[in-house]
Amino acid sequence: MLANKYPLGYFPTPLEKMSNLSKKYQDYQLFIKRDDNSGLASGGNKVRKLQYFIYEALNKAYDTIITAGAQQSNHCRQTAAACARAGLACYLLLGGEKPKIFNGNLLLSHLLGANIYFNGENRKGEGIESLKFKLEAEGKKVYVVPYGGSNLLGAYGFVDAVKELKEQLTEMNLKMDYIFFASSSGGTQAGLRLGIDLFEVDTKLMPISIDKIGYEYKTLAEAVLELLKEGQKSLRIKKTYSIDDARLIHGYDSKGYGVVTSNEKSAIKELAENEGILLDPVYSGRAFYGMLDHIKSQKIEKGANILFWHTGGLPANFYYSEELMP
Ligand SMILES: *Cc1c(COP(=O)(O)O)cnc(C)c1O
Repeated sequence: MLANKYPLGYFPTPLEKMSNLSKKYQDYQLFIKRDDNSGLASGGNKVRKLQYFIYEALNKAYDTIITAGAQQSNHCRQTAAACARAGLACYLLLGGEKPKIFNGNLLLSHLLGANIYFNGENRKGEGIESLKFKLEAEGKKVYVVPYGGSNLLGAYGFVDAVKELKEQLTEMNLKMDYIFFASSSGGTQAGLRLGIDLFEVDTKLMPISIDKIGYEYKTLAEAVLELLKEGQKSLRIKKTYSIDDARLIHGYDSKGYGVVTSNEKSAIKELAENEGILLDPVYSGRAFYGMLDHIKSQKIEKGANILFWHTGGLPANFYYSEELMP
């Protein structure tokens, strides 16, 4: 199952020590997993999920892919790139109204050849079924990649990623006590959790909530738990999952999704100025801020090894230039 992927990225992504920040916060050893360098039109975590979707779509002879997201969706930009590589038509259903000027991820999705529809208030795929119906009436064979690529198949990308991490940690003779990352549609979180249990990696996941709004009928933790229960069966993991396995760390998401504050800006600048690595203002910047806050307020025991899983998002910086300026 985990082997059924269409190659789209550069893997393994590097696992590096953040030497300067480890000197600055000397009670901790800080590391970073560079999924921002996963290749495919400026990288990011969705490449891992898309390898599974594209494999299935090609295998079942689909010719068209639909997915959905916010206007600055990294997931949509990476899906557009994956479709271009695989020779599939790509349709994106994005939140908001068509802007006068395309910028950041939206501009890149356009350049990558996606057919873009604007969906007003809806940014979580609410109109996918009706668009699918319309395209099928035109004779297309339509494969739907869910919002954020977060169903079980997409989560396999991160089960597989844990295998990759385990090999790197073994080779480097390291153990990570904590893994911080941005969690928003839940596939990354569910995949990491399942992978850690399947491959028996001893670590604690620290999913930083990005979007305080869940889905229409469930919270994000409930959505993650559903994925865990499904994955437990298909991967035959010997464990019974409860909501405690699916919780997120809230407290950094109170301003809402896509609202960039001085928190995200300070985190972006701190990593950029100390390590020469760029975060994004919506996801990884917010999660990195959450990690720094845990470190600075000593919510984590001294001597711990901490990994930040960089999930990408670089193009969104250009969209949020006003919030990020001096
Ligand atoms: C999508 C995304 C995330 C969140 O991943 P989920 O699997 O949707 O929770 C984090 N960071 C970036 C940059 C993303 O694009």
